[in-house]
Amino acid sequence: MDEFIYIYFCVLSAAFGAVFGSFCNVLIYRVPRGESVVKGGSHCTSCGQPIKFYDNIPVVSYIVLRGRCRHCKQKFTPRYFIVEVLCMLLWLGFALLAKRFGYVYSICCMGVSLCVVAVAFTDYENGYIPDRYNVVIAAFGAFLCVYGIFAETYVSWQSRLLGLAFSVLFYGGAYAVSKWIFKREGIGFGDVKFMAACGLFLGIKAAFVATLAATITASAVLVTLSVRRGEKKKEYPFAPFLGAGVIIAAFVGEIAANAYLALF
Ligand SMILES: [Zn+2]
Repeated sequence: MDEFIYIYFCVLSAAFGAVFGSFCNVLIYRVPRGESVVKGGSHCTSCGQPIKFYDNIPVVSYIVLRGRCRHCKQKFTPRYFIVEVLCMLLWLGFALLAKRFGYVYSICCMGVSLCVVAVAFTDYENGYIPDRYNVVIAAFGAFLCVYGIFAETYVSWQSRLLGLAFSVLFYGGAYAVSKWIFKREGIGFGDVKFMAACGLFLGIKAAFVATLAATITASAVLVTLSVRRGEKKKEYPFAPFLGAGVIIAAFVGEIAANAYLALF
């Protein structure tokens, strides 16, 4: 019976992941434009025609219509498809974690992953992180903290508070140093708030792994870009890398950190 619930939970999570990925696309488009995220149906951004429900099925519609508007045939940005598939896979992945970390942690990870994806793409497209996502991530972190006081959790509530402290000191410090010493923002203050919220959610060990993973991916990608295009001094959004680090850490951060610490 437990096995049945687990499999059912995984299948359902993948389906809802795609649906919420679709909502995530709405957030990415509308939040920076100051539009309501609940009112008003979807429209083609090119011809303005409302998109019918049967053309708005996550993942499927994009493939059926080959990424084009049914009316004006204008190509939609591939970001719609990428975000829907990404959220579907992330939710499936976090559902699979339920066996090891429990359903509560899995569901919280799903909520946080939506915010992280929205943050990564909003920062990539608009160059800033809307505060509301940080508030939601921090709320999930605070909930797990309180939950951890009363119930057995894989990551203790003390670890989550330390994760918050680590992120504030590390990212706040990096922000202050780059601003006051180098007279430019190495990382944005939005990045600091984002990682503070994620630190509370992840706990100290996973927050450290997230930082390590973000630094490695950022260095690898930026070095490749600068070698290939010879670009320099262009400002790159940092949140996509931080987001990738946070997602990796949410999956394997605690396990990786414990395995590493066991070596000593
Ligand atoms: Zn159109």
